[in-house]
Amino acid sequence: MGQETLNMTNVPAGRLKRFAIENRGDSFSDALRSRIFEQLSVHKFVYDDLQPDLVISVGGDGTLLQAFHRYANRLNETAFVGVHTGHLGFYADWTAEEVDGLVQSIIGKGFNIVEYPLLHVSVEYINERTPESFLALNECTVRSDEGLLVADVLIKGEKFESFRGDGLCFSTPTGSTAYNKGLSGAIIHPSLLSIQLTEIASINNRVYRTVGSPLILPQHHRCQVLPVIDRSFTLSLDHLSRIHDQVKQIEFGVADEKIRFARFRPFPFWRRVRDSFIG
Ligand code: NAP
Ligand code: MN
Repeated sequence: MGQETLNMTNVPAGRLKRFAIENRGDSFSDALRSRIFEQLSVHKFVYDDLQPDLVISVGGDGTLLQAFHRYANRLNETAFVGVHTGHLGFYADWTAEEVDGLVQSIIGKGFNIVEYPLLHVSVEYINERTPESFLALNECTVRSDEGLLVADVLIKGEKFESFRGDGLCFSTPTGSTAYNKGLSGAIIHPSLLSIQLTEIASINNRVYRTVGSPLILPQHHRCQVLPVIDRSFTLSLDHLSRIHDQVKQIEFGVADEKIRFARFRPFPFWRRVRDSFIG
């Protein structure tokens, strides 16, 4: 089996005891959820949606994003696996028909844990308001809450460019196939501990200039976004969006935390890219 990421550990059978199921909520996903629940319960697995060892996401990639944010405070103790009830997903890579096989694997087989990088976002405020930090699995976008975003972009504390446009998108390698791809960003293999910065409709003319190309930053580089006039920003973390006022700076970098996926069989990243986008 090809090494998918830098960090892959083997977990012997029987180590998972507590599970939870995140569900999209449609009737098909609901039925699948009951089926998984019953089969695992029969085999003495305990449903525990507060402290699960394994979180099974049934739905789409969006369902896995929800599951990730629900358990973001205990990533070291939680492994994720995704079943898709729609089209093939990047995080949800088991089909509904394969669910019995997945359950048998959970019960009886050892598995590998693969770890993927996350995006760390920290927001500092003026007036000594307590800073906040967040994790994203796909990306974080920065927009103005009223139209044009005007902000300075710094890399490692040094001014890089003045940005004017709709917004900026900072994505993880596994998020590179999501919004980032729509912004003509590169698809990044998740073994590369990195984040990618892409522009959302920048203004470029004789007065305003940005680099225009996506930038890929390594683990030890941080990127800061600083307000120029307006200190109010809309930050979206994956599917969640919120306005932040009185912002002093927003810093982006590769997070120390990682998301852990339970891999019961190999499904290489480039094969997922091919199957999703080329067919
Ligand atoms: P959604 O509107 O259902 O998501 C849009 C699509 O992105 C869905 O088809 C979703 O798959 C897919 N997707 C999510 N993560 C992906 C990944 N890592 N690689 C490839 N495709 C991925 O909303 P959602 O399901 O809550 O997902 C939120 C994500 O939507 C955001 O994180 C952002 O990446 C993406 N988005 C994209 C655009 C754009 O491309 N213009 C704009 C806004 C948001 P499922 O159908 O399996 O859920
Ligand atoms: Mn979705």
